[in-house]
Amino acid sequence: MRIVVLAGGIGGARFLSGVRAHARATGAEVTAVVNVGDDVWMHGLRITPDLDSVMYTLGGGIDPERGWGRAGETWTVKEELANYGAEPTWFGLGDRDIATHLVRTRMLNAGYPLSAVVAALCDRWQPGVTLLPATDDRVETHVVVTDADGTRAIHFQEWWVRHRAALPAEQFRFVGADTAKPAAGVLDALAAADVVLLAPSNPVVSIAPVLAVSALREALVSGSAPVVGVSPIIGGSPVRGMADKCLAAIDVPCTAEGVGRLYGARAAGGVLDAWLVDTGDAGTDVPGVRVGAAPLWMTDDDATAAMVRAALELGGAA
Ligand code: GDP
Ligand code: CA
Repeated sequence: MRIVVLAGGIGGARFLSGVRAHARATGAEVTAVVNVGDDVWMHGLRITPDLDSVMYTLGGGIDPERGWGRAGETWTVKEELANYGAEPTWFGLGDRDIATHLVRTRMLNAGYPLSAVVAALCDRWQPGVTLLPATDDRVETHVVVTDADGTRAIHFQEWWVRHRAALPAEQFRFVGADTAKPAAGVLDALAAADVVLLAPSNPVVSIAPVLAVSALREALVSGSAPVVGVSPIIGGSPVRGMADKCLAAIDVPCTAEGVGRLYGARAAGGVLDAWLVDTGDAGTDVPGVRVGAAPLWMTDDDATAAMVRAALELGGAA
């Protein structure tokens, strides 16, 4: 059984941990195709938040409380940068984490594609799944906002981290997606997949930028593998994080049904064959999509692996 998972950062990482637990028990192979829309240059370093959240989580290096960055972190470099007044001061990289960023940036500057860099970093972290960026090309999520300075597009990280998503977003643009190609290995993984799972990640700024890579979306939509989405919304709440702010910006209700309809049925121009919602959201209706319900709280690997089994059964892939 070959499982491909489209994923963002923290929600994607926790889900993948459960997918890996299921795979270890059944001998399945897992490929994670991860969002790069959050990626950005800061302090001369290439930052890839979602890939790092997945790599550190699966590799056992994550700070579990923060949900991003390294455990046992110290912040000396951040303090020293602030003492220089070096912008952006609103974005923190820990000292341990900076080593990862130095290796990545050096490899990118030497001409390696991001997928090769991820593979090299994973030699250390051994995540137990094949980790791929959605694309090796530069695709960055920008947010159109209006404030006292007028209407402008800012990088997603500035909107999310600096403004805590408090500036009303008018639009999300995936800059570079028009010409981006799937990263090395992505189309092969999709062609060989027995099932494709959409992790319970932010639909607007984690999954949408992955699907904005048109050849990737086409391969998913035209492929023979069933596509099963897992709802990131439980009982009208995004569980953790600020997905509600992103959904509000594109006029989609923050409900399992709203997100299911946003993804839409594969037969009707969308991407889903099946949509797994929380038991409390049973009764969710998404036209043309098989809807199932199971407990969707990712409290630990056992609970998450049970979610994965439910998703595979719903997709007819168990
Ligand atoms: P990010 O890139 O770090 O923001 O992480 P993702 O986009 O991968 O995932 C964030 C989303 O995960 C949040 O918006 C939540 O909707 C969802 N999420 C977090 N914890 C849970 C959980 O326990 N169950 C479910 N179903 N969704 C969750
Ligand atoms: Ca993210």
